[in-house]
Amino acid sequence: MVEVVVIGAGQAGLSAGWNLLRKGAAPGEDFVILDANEGPGGAWRHRWPSLTLGVAHGIHDLPGFPQSPADPSEPASSVVARYYGAYEAEFGLPVLRPWRVESVAEAPDGVRVRVTSAHAVTGEKRVDDARAVINATGTWDQPYWPYYPGSESFHNRQLHTRDFTDAADFVGQRVLVVGGGASAVQFLLPLADAGATTIWSTRRAPVFGRRVFDREWGRDVERAVEARTEQGLPTLPVVATTGLPLTPEYQRGIDAGILVSRGPLKRLTERGVVFAGVASDQAGDLMPAWSGGPVDVDVIVWATGFRPAIRHLAPLRLRTPEGGLKVHRTQLVNDPRIFVAGYGAGASTIGATRTGRQAAVAAWRFVADGSGVET
Ligand code: FAD
Repeated sequence: MVEVVVIGAGQAGLSAGWNLLRKGAAPGEDFVILDANEGPGGAWRHRWPSLTLGVAHGIHDLPGFPQSPADPSEPASSVVARYYGAYEAEFGLPVLRPWRVESVAEAPDGVRVRVTSAHAVTGEKRVDDARAVINATGTWDQPYWPYYPGSESFHNRQLHTRDFTDAADFVGQRVLVVGGGASAVQFLLPLADAGATTIWSTRRAPVFGRRVFDREWGRDVERAVEARTEQGLPTLPVVATTGLPLTPEYQRGIDAGILVSRGPLKRLTERGVVFAGVASDQAGDLMPAWSGGPVDVDVIVWATGFRPAIRHLAPLRLRTPEGGLKVHRTQLVNDPRIFVAGYGAGASTIGATRTGRQAAVAAWRFVADGSGVET
């Protein structure tokens, strides 16, 4: 029996752990951190090798332990795994792995929650009764594959962002990248550079923001996303709110026609896709008017994003009719025992650190006096 179970040891879960320590919570006795991964690094551990720190938009420092300078050409997966591992050791954080939480449900006394986990290697079960849960499970474990008519008949290769490893695997192939976010753009340029023929499909015309990505911009993004989670609406990717940053690299891609979309898909065929076409009233420079039609491709890369990994919370029936969680700051409005970090407006490395702190402070207050409502 513990006071707080933190689920997930990515940026958000580690930030929550550090802040619980700072509040005086005893590691292992008052709180544990259960993580499904084999080792440290959260989702970054799994990012494709060509995603270097120089290409990623940057990793924010965890509290109390800045990152050491790293080679910008080293894969972000190894840099971040090393950093998080050193962080866990430095502060003696009680991270237990590889434990995957299968469900969070009511405990018999009705005040506690029961967290049931399975060990990924031995299959052994672990049950923790806790007064509060900080859910910091990110999105990586919940890839989103959209359905199109004909999906089942497509015979060529298809993969999700989650499974992408290296652009060099696609030399000489016709590769369709589907999705309008940062991952799609981060795949298209190296694929084209590696000698693949690229085709880009987005549902709407891509938007490259000309605004400076400063603190004020960050606050605007957070306000927009927070307004959704306060109402219990499903989360949206940050790019849907901001557009993509127009870096010199992305401008090069636009000029070369690589970052120009053919518009939405209508269906899949055995060897390719059929585009829906782009009407002139939806068209723009980055998605010209086009009558659509079939195109054969060797590979489809579904860079269609992720959803919050919260299935294990299902027994508590927390979702709103709209399908989201109704969150005030980090606390669930319909179940004050549950806190979320890295969710919604917190789904960036800055946001994960910040919401990890907020969730820890509020959860620790909640276990002390039952309130925890953050103001
Ligand atoms: P994660 O790092 O995903 O950690 C969650 C942890 O929870 C994992 O260790 C996982 O194993 C564990 N877990 C999940 N489910 C369970 C379970 N049931 N039981 C136990 N453990 C579980 N943000 C930026 O700021 N800059 C970027 O450059 C950037 N690039 C990104 C690129 C991609 C492809 C993606 C998908 C996201 C990117 N993000 C970026 C946003 C990302 O949300 C943040 O980087 C942040 O690191 C997420 O931290 P987190 O702790 O919330 O989640």
